[in-house]
Amino acid sequence: MKRNTQSSIVIIGGGIVGCSIAYHLTQLGRRDIVVLDKGPLFHNDGASSHAPGVLGLVTGEPTLTKWAQYSADLYTQLGKFARVGGIDVALTDATVHELKRRHGLAHARGLPARYIDREECAELFPHLNYDGVKATLLHSQDGITHGPTICEAFAARCGSAVEFRANTPVETLETNANRITAVVTASGERIAADTVILATNIWGALLSEQVGITVPMLAAQHQYVVTDPLPLLSQETADVRMPNLRYFDYGIYVRQHQQAYGFGSYYHQALMVTAENVGKSSIKPFTPTDFEPAWALMQQQLPACEGSGFSRAFNGMFGFTIDDHPILGETPTVRGLWFALGSWVTHAGGVGRTLARWITSGTPDCDVHRVDVNRFHAHQRTENFILQRSSTHYRQHLQVIHPKEPWGAPRNIRQAPYHAQMQALDAAFDEFAGWEMAQWYGANAPLVEKYKADIPTRDEWGARHWSPIAAAEHLATRESAGLFNINGLTRIQVTGADATAFLE
Ligand SMILES: Cc1cc2nc3c(=O)[nH]c(=O)nc-3n(C[C@H](O)[C@H](O)[C@H](O)COP(=O)(O)OP(=O)(O)OC[C@H]3O[C@@H](n4cnc5c(N)ncnc54)[C@H](O)[C@@H]3O)c2cc1C
Repeated sequence: MKRNTQSSIVIIGGGIVGCSIAYHLTQLGRRDIVVLDKGPLFHNDGASSHAPGVLGLVTGEPTLTKWAQYSADLYTQLGKFARVGGIDVALTDATVHELKRRHGLAHARGLPARYIDREECAELFPHLNYDGVKATLLHSQDGITHGPTICEAFAARCGSAVEFRANTPVETLETNANRITAVVTASGERIAADTVILATNIWGALLSEQVGITVPMLAAQHQYVVTDPLPLLSQETADVRMPNLRYFDYGIYVRQHQQAYGFGSYYHQALMVTAENVGKSSIKPFTPTDFEPAWALMQQQLPACEGSGFSRAFNGMFGFTIDDHPILGETPTVRGLWFALGSWVTHAGGVGRTLARWITSGTPDCDVHRVDVNRFHAHQRTENFILQRSSTHYRQHLQVIHPKEPWGAPRNIRQAPYHAQMQALDAAFDEFAGWEMAQWYGANAPLVEKYKADIPTRDEWGARHWSPIAAAEHLATRESAGLFNINGLTRIQVTGADATAFLE
């Protein structure tokens, strides 16, 4: 007989994000929560079980960095974080400059970071080949965790407030009048709930499509290998003692696995997978030819690994959104349905805390504008857009990317009625919310001569994707007047009886 049950909150997905949300909800006094996973608990089908658990705390996005700092502290309290540090290695001048920026960024975010010399680097990571290395930056707060044991620790602290159920795939989301009402499992059990959280990451689209929501995200196959035990590491007894390494020149990172090294590589073509093609597990077969170039480079950087076989090699899948940020919050079209998709192990502690506060009080505990489920435009949910942008973010991961780098394909999605006139004025276009917007007009080049004394010089990096014409246009507008096309900026329409009061 089919069962009918009830719960205040249903969390679908028992990976690190689902477990973190459950834990943080109980910290705020919520009870009557059920976490359902289609596979076993807590070593299961998801990426949390396969990730090497590297936490690099510094990012360009303040909210993500705060979440990473909080997560590292939380995982430490849970006794599951080895704060071994992380070293950024620069092999080219371009990456030396990137390290300077990361050094500044770390300090701006309140994180220690300092350059280390060859000797100190050799002490911390004896097998790194320093020939050809131009700079090394140590982030002492970085470290390593282990997804399944964190999930277990979260679950243990939830006590009786949360029921964790393994082997319970959710097949259907039930809604009524734009509200979530229940989930139905594969065995036919209907669990009524007024809050349902989708923490299913790369499987997220399968359920969200049922309620008409396209998730602008795809799974990407990411290569990870662990060498055979290495003679030079035969004395190692700790799981991990050496810092993680990050090679921005190649998009490759390294961690120690006791007597072996693990290598994660973005140094291959983007292998994107739609939710329908993910399958039961987040692991796909290893594709050795994709790994060959990365492996050739890494044997030079860590000669201790030369000629080693692999004790493990796989293509693991996790989610890449169209703007490289998680997708969080209550969906606008199905009230009570919350998304918690596209997060990393690195941020999962903080994501859980923010989501729990948001669900409980209606307001998140930090600035969520870069991660909010409401941020997408219709054109960003098309198949082509999702494929192109998600794969761009995969390819660019751990690379030196200029913050003003113009968007690649797809372009010319939305054009102003006067686009041809802008072209005729030699507009330098970039994409904003799908619109082609001019950054400056070549036709205004003669203004530079007039204002050159007031136009600050920029260094090579600062001057990329910039023109003194933009500064001259600015100064000319101050002096007289100018006409700007800013149709890419978001307009918000507030309507209804309380609109004025709300705006006030
Ligand atoms: C090879 C590899 C290396 C990585 N390295 C790192 C790293 O070093 N640092 C880092 O921070 N991140 C890393 N990541 C990314 C990170 O692992 C993921 O982003 C993160 O684990 C996602 O957590 P999650 O809880 O959202 O999803 P998952 O861990 O994937 O969990 C989702 C869960 O939902 C369940 N589920 C799906 N559909 C249903 C359904 N219909 N009903 C019930 N249950 C369902 C699944 O069984 C699964 O257990 C790596 C990932 C991979 C694959």
